[in-house]
Amino acid sequence: METRSKDVWVLIETYADGSARNVGLELLNPGRTLADKQGGALVAVVIGHNVQGAVQAASAHGADTVIVVEGEEYREYSTDAYTEALDRLVRKYGPTTMLIGATQNGRDLAPRLACRLGTGLTADCTSLDIDEKTGLVAWTRPAFGGNLMATIMCPDHRPQMGTVRPGVFPKPQPGVGHAEIIREEIRVPGERIRVQVLQVIKEAVNGGVDLESAEIIVAGGRGVGGKEGFRLLQELADALGGAVGASRAAVDEGWISADHQVGQTGKSVRPKLYIACGISGAIQHVAGITSAGCIVAINSDPEAPIFGVADYGVVGDLHEVLPALTEEIRHLRG
Ligand SMILES: Cc1cc2nc3c(=O)[nH]c(=O)nc-3n(C[C@H](O)[C@H](O)[C@H](O)COP(=O)(O)OP(=O)(O)OC[C@H]3O[C@@H](n4cnc5c(N)ncnc54)[C@H](O)[C@@H]3O)c2cc1C
Repeated sequence: METRSKDVWVLIETYADGSARNVGLELLNPGRTLADKQGGALVAVVIGHNVQGAVQAASAHGADTVIVVEGEEYREYSTDAYTEALDRLVRKYGPTTMLIGATQNGRDLAPRLACRLGTGLTADCTSLDIDEKTGLVAWTRPAFGGNLMATIMCPDHRPQMGTVRPGVFPKPQPGVGHAEIIREEIRVPGERIRVQVLQVIKEAVNGGVDLESAEIIVAGGRGVGGKEGFRLLQELADALGGAVGASRAAVDEGWISADHQVGQTGKSVRPKLYIACGISGAIQHVAGITSAGCIVAINSDPEAPIFGVADYGVVGDLHEVLPALTEEIRHLRG
């Protein structure tokens, strides 16, 4: 596809009420860096139904321009309608770079769109930069089971596309917002949308866990020893006002649901405080906590690799350390 601008586009995914999902706003952060380095504008693209809230949020979080496509056909996400709309927009404006959140819908949409446009896509990036020699976007992501970081470039095709998981970048500070708003009318006839959503059933998973925006996370691994052990973690998390996370080993054991999983195939988190209990510190787990402010590890093995990334370490049995810690915190908090 022909590039007609140096602009960087960020897709702002929306909720059913028309507000912006955090991940789109987070991507305005690296989007701004890339746009400034490439000498282009930062453009947010909002597709949905009654999306005024998302448009305002995109502007407040630093977009120079917001392109809006609204319509009944975009009320629920559908691969066909969203691909069609974005495909037409990209062909009309010709941006050089496009960022999409690696959410369930983003992971469905991005490869479909890349394929239509005949370009490449780097999925699940953890950092983005401009390669000084070539001026290309350098997309970095874990490869070979997280054992090394690969930096990928897309020299021949445009736009350069990538997905980034929620929680990898902090949201920019919101301001007043002066974005130019461009409204595009793109109609996708019903017969072109091959999947119809008949019913949306919301599953209540432990009241829902929002690890990506939690400021404090108490996470447990195989060392927790069972479902019962997670009660100790929940008590500490409650005392601190935090959320409970887990390693994949604990999830695979069936001690806690998968939406608590932190790491390469779980969630990337950026709490101010991350307390890792009975977690060895495998590279795939650590990949999800590199943006944590302070890491505290509680582990009975003084040689556990988690101590290599922790700011503070407690060598001991978590079944003794956690109740004592919880009691002390409750005491301090009155
Ligand atoms: C492609 C791929 C993707 C993966 N993605 C993820 C991912 O997203 N997230 C993830 O977590 N893992 C992931 N893994 C798995 C990862 O490699 C590790 O197997 C996993 O993180 C280990 O979990 P753990 O630390 O809980 O268990 P273990 O490695 O078994 O460690 C348990 C720890 O508990 C300590 N311990 C035991 N008893 C106690 C006690 N009473 N008190 C205190 N400490 C105690 C032990 O000393 C040990 O260090 C992935 C693997 C692959 C191959």
